[in-house]
Amino acid sequence: MESRTFILKHVLPVSRVERYWKGLEEGKIYGTRCKSCGASFYPPQADCSFCYSSDVEWVEVGGEGVVECFTRIQRPPQGFEFAGSGYTITVARFGEFKVMGWFKGEGLPKVGMRVKAETGRDESGVWKVYFVPT
Ligand SMILES: [Zn+2]
Repeated sequence: MESRTFILKHVLPVSRVERYWKGLEEGKIYGTRCKSCGASFYPPQADCSFCYSSDVEWVEVGGEGVVECFTRIQRPPQGFEFAGSGYTITVARFGEFKVMGWFKGEGLPKVGMRVKAETGRDESGVWKVYFVPT
């Protein structure tokens, strides 16, 4: 079958959540919490989508997380060819935050498995969150 490459680029305004990206470079993962209604956001949001307040605080996500779900990507899409035979995207709960990351353990994670989060660059140079079983 003949195919052709279709490249789609997005421009995302990141200036108000720049701390998140800087945090990844420092090995830290941040979410935000609305100071008005208490809602928590990961990925962090500069504005609360519940009460529309812009009075949010940065909160470092830490400690042990608990795996809630995961999915195995068997055929990496364009731009993720470095992942070779596939990768596992995992969602783990760290207190009030649900964080998505790449699983770095052996085989597949299990729901309820305890993990710690770390940051690092992937083979294409993009900063990511990784989960390692504890
Ligand atoms: Zn709010």
